Amino acid sequence: MEWAEVSFRTSHEAVDAVSSLFEEAGASGTVIEDPALINDYIHSGLWDYTDIPEQKDTSAVTVKAYLAADESIEGKLAALRAGLDEIAARGVDTKPAEFSVTRVQDEDWANSWKAYFHTDKVGERVVIQPSWEEYEPEAGEVVLRLDPGAAFGTGTHPTTAMCLRAMEKLIRPGMTVFDVGTGSGVLAIAAAKLGAAEVRAVDYDATAVRVARENIEANGVADVVSTAESDLFSALPGRAGLVTANLIADLVIRLLPDLDAHLEKGGALLASGIIEDRTQEVREAADLAGFVVAEGHEEKEWHAMVIRRRGEA
Ligand code: SAH
Repeated sequence: MEWAEVSFRTSHEAVDAVSSLFEEAGASGTVIEDPALINDYIHSGLWDYTDIPEQKDTSAVTVKAYLAADESIEGKLAALRAGLDEIAARGVDTKPAEFSVTRVQDEDWANSWKAYFHTDKVGERVVIQPSWEEYEPEAGEVVLRLDPGAAFGTGTHPTTAMCLRAMEKLIRPGMTVFDVGTGSGVLAIAAAKLGAAEVRAVDYDATAVRVARENIEANGVADVVSTAESDLFSALPGRAGLVTANLIADLVIRLLPDLDAHLEKGGALLASGIIEDRTQEVREAADLAGFVVAEGHEEKEWHAMVIRRRGEA
């Protein structure tokens, strides 16, 4: 099917009026591309590193919508142009007021992102398989069925992939694992499939917990993996043989003082999401809590560490 992608570059002030106009014209939804929001995201403090460039010009916002390019499209476009003029006539500043229309094929925008996600053997055993692909696992492989969605963690991000590879060696059959900041549940699901007997997956974000739950069920490991909302260890009673925490340096540092109370004898913390510049601070925080970095991994600008009690490393 053919669609018309209509796009209007305008002022922040005009965004709501323009979105409503697009929706009245029959668009099922509008996309708002606001460079100021991208900068907010970069500076939110949630990320130590992001490869999204800082947006220089934040004065204009682009509102986009998709309309079916059927026989009524020319009339709809004429009505849209008139509606945009009317908004300006009401005294709303709509500048730069750049209107454009592009024809796109259905699959171009509805399915094109699928081209970026393929079945991926992340480690020696762990394979990530999106639901729209077929895969015949080889002996010894564990397959995680995961689609990109509302929570972080398809398994292919370097911080996650490093954890998955390390977990292939760290997980022992029958182990208890705590996954702190579970996101999509990827590490918790891998822990269960690699042989853990009990996995607790927590996140402080309710959406992540819901998405993790769905993925855990879809992967058939709901009998092993439980979920909860929790700020770091706060809702996690008891001890684990392995704690996985793919967070950022600040959160790993905040978690370390409580680690001793949550680790079994001989247990380890697998921490990831740490950028090069912060590794020394994490080492110092580990030292202060009675731990040492027993093993380090790095990929791109990211570091992952296996942290053990001093004397047990
Ligand atoms: N474990 C997944 C997701 C990592 S992203 C993976 O390895 O791919 C980090 C996750 O930590 C996010 O889902 C975020 O919501 C969660 N998080 C951030 N701060 C947290 C906190 N204080 N307590 C628990 N979870 C937290």
